[in-house]
Amino acid sequence: MPATPAWPPKSLPRLFVRMPLSEGVAVELDAKQVNYLANVLRMGEDAELLLFDGASGEWLARIAEAGRKRMTLTVGRKTREPETIPDVWLAFAPVKRAQTDWLVEKATELGAARLLPVITQRTIAERVKLERLEAIAIEAAEQCGRTRLPEVDEPVSLKALLMSRDPQRRLYFADEGGGDPAASAFAPGPSLILTGPEGGFTEEERALVRSADKAVPISLGPRILRAETAALAALATYMAVAGDWLPDRLIDS
Ligand code: SAM
Repeated sequence: MPATPAWPPKSLPRLFVRMPLSEGVAVELDAKQVNYLANVLRMGEDAELLLFDGASGEWLARIAEAGRKRMTLTVGRKTREPETIPDVWLAFAPVKRAQTDWLVEKATELGAARLLPVITQRTIAERVKLERLEAIAIEAAEQCGRTRLPEVDEPVSLKALLMSRDPQRRLYFADEGGGDPAASAFAPGPSLILTGPEGGFTEEERALVRSADKAVPISLGPRILRAETAALAALATYMAVAGDWLPDRLIDS
């Protein structure tokens, strides 16, 4: 049986909290969360919602005390165990802010385990703000039903990425110059997908990446995709042929 979506069966609001959750624990929400529940959703005492902490799964919680600026919840029963996320990382050259935000949101929805902004020779992105990308990933995880957040890394240079990489992690290099068709190249197991900036990789970079251990150049079809489209198309294809869009027994085998 293919995986069933975590959404839409639950219509309760879902929030990520930065503290370990367990039954009976009291949770104090931050100001932004209080504003969202109290003023946007108009929730008050005794209303229920779902919480996750990125590690222990998902929990039903009840509002024990509600003020306009302060809210305390009591954690009840566990509603879901933490899910298994395929071990696939996405290294992408950041593009303009709005497109990078979109990429991070969608990659989180698609189930990337880790997001790594990579600075290449032709990257022209404005400064990448890690905190902002983390906040976008949290919101996307809250919305799509993930119980684990993707890790979001500080940007690194392409050379640093290649040097620090575990060679056991297969490197799928989206090469607009051609490669194995992505749908037949991807295989379950630790994977790193690498996509380039709007201007593409330089010849020097292409040679460097192609010579890396366990590097597999992949093609995403006959059209040149925008950088953010390429990253998400590659990730979606991975999930479909080697990730968790497959029956459970095939994941990470
Ligand atoms: N300026 C480059 C050119 O005209 O050849 C295009 C770069 S493309 C906008 C940005 C990145 O998306 C590329 O570096 C590559 O990683 C990826 N990409 C786009 N289309 C692709 C395709 N058909 N196959 C593989 N990778 C692709």
